[in-house]
Amino acid sequence: MNALEKCEVLVIGTGIIGVMTALYLQNAGKTVTLLERGEIARGASAGNAGILAFPEIIPIPAPGVMKKAPRWLIDPLGPLSVPPAYALKIAPWLWQFWKASSPRRFQHGLNVQIAMMRLAASEMQTVAVMPELAHHISNTGTLDLYDTRASFDAARRDWDEKERAGVTFSRVGRAEIEQLQPGLAPRFQHAMFTPGGLQVADPYEFTRAIADLVIARGATLRKGEAVRVETVGESTIVSLKTGEKIDADKVVIACGAWSKTLAASLGNIVPLETERGYNTTLPAGSFDLTRQLYFNDHAFVVTPLSSGIRVGGAVELGGLDLPPNFRRSEALLKKASQFLPGLKTEGGKQWMGFRPSMPDCLPVIGPSRASNTVIYAFGHGHLGLTQSAATGRLVTELVSGTATSISVDPFRASRFG
Ligand SMILES: Cc1cc2nc3c(=O)[nH]c(=O)nc-3n(C[C@H](O)[C@H](O)[C@H](O)COP(=O)(O)OP(=O)(O)OC[C@H]3O[C@@H](n4cnc5c(N)ncnc54)[C@H](O)[C@@H]3O)c2cc1C
Repeated sequence: MNALEKCEVLVIGTGIIGVMTALYLQNAGKTVTLLERGEIARGASAGNAGILAFPEIIPIPAPGVMKKAPRWLIDPLGPLSVPPAYALKIAPWLWQFWKASSPRRFQHGLNVQIAMMRLAASEMQTVAVMPELAHHISNTGTLDLYDTRASFDAARRDWDEKERAGVTFSRVGRAEIEQLQPGLAPRFQHAMFTPGGLQVADPYEFTRAIADLVIARGATLRKGEAVRVETVGESTIVSLKTGEKIDADKVVIACGAWSKTLAASLGNIVPLETERGYNTTLPAGSFDLTRQLYFNDHAFVVTPLSSGIRVGGAVELGGLDLPPNFRRSEALLKKASQFLPGLKTEGGKQWMGFRPSMPDCLPVIGPSRASNTVIYAFGHGHLGLTQSAATGRLVTELVSGTATSISVDPFRASRFG
């Protein structure tokens, strides 16, 4: 029989949520062990667009969103797709998504996101001044582009909400668009500019730098795949695929899109699914890109990263096991080359990642049903990088048993019954 390993706080998963939480736990004086089945920071956190999207407070399940879906679904390479092989499996999640889009639930989601994004922005500021991490974060400002006057007008309600929440932005016309990003196709006459738009230089490098920092400060990295978490008397036992067991005082489950099985072992059936996203990273110099560009009518972004120019986005509700369909990356690149006519599209590296997504687009942060010694930190969907520092703060408060900075009740695992 294997000897039982012991540790104080075990964080399962080394994506941005796991490593940022580890950083906060260390700051609170905890001794941390990180458990990772693969390579550090190679999940969704490796290849995302790198945007710290604090102004993105509008929940995706908004009233009327389901009316747009059929239009998007017609094009198999459009902004939203459901592979036929996964259509039945995703139906319960879509049902919950639709329910979350009622006016009442939307308003609730909006209020929650406003509070979460305020915390996220202020906590990320404390991370951004750490000497080891400061050079990873920059302010490029964000340009939100619309194809037509009609689509710009249709988005006005969302911008009004952002204004009420304190986001600063200005409407820009063609001449300013050209100044802010020379070389954009003339079709873009309507845009919003958010000067405070922040991003990381490269999401993998950022996540890796935090992991390296917590390990340098004394965290242990343990390789292995957790298959079950259970509470036995006073102990919380994590079983690994190899049959080994770890006894931890506290456990944080931060396994991104793969968190569902571990939550089930603790009595929580969560409607966690994945929204698969695609991108291509072109070599640096493929375009003289000054800042993040959101092509709102096409649901994709182009970001200038230290590793090159990343073109990507879209949502494919295809689960964790189907092979990637990189024609989606190609379709986005083709569109990008029409919108940025000088873009050199050769030499790109394609990637597909698994956003960990709850139907109401709010994360799961809070204790497990089985015990307060196990804390969940997953389901951040499109906003995991953005909300990582806030999650680190909240999880650390829960682990320490102190009052949380904002209410975590809206994030409870049991909110879907
Ligand atoms: C195309 C795309 C663009 C995006 N753009 C942005 C953006 O600009 N801004 C933003 O804020 N967010 C963005 N996101 C979302 C963001 O990437 C995710 O929300 C975030 O990375 C999730 O982090 P995570 O730590 O929860 O999961 P992950 O990064 O996936 O990490 C989970 C880790 O857990 C490990 N693991 C899983 N199961 C086990 C187990 N049983 N035992 C041990 N280890 C395990 C995995 O190996 C992995 O390392 C984007 C996502 C995609 C796909």
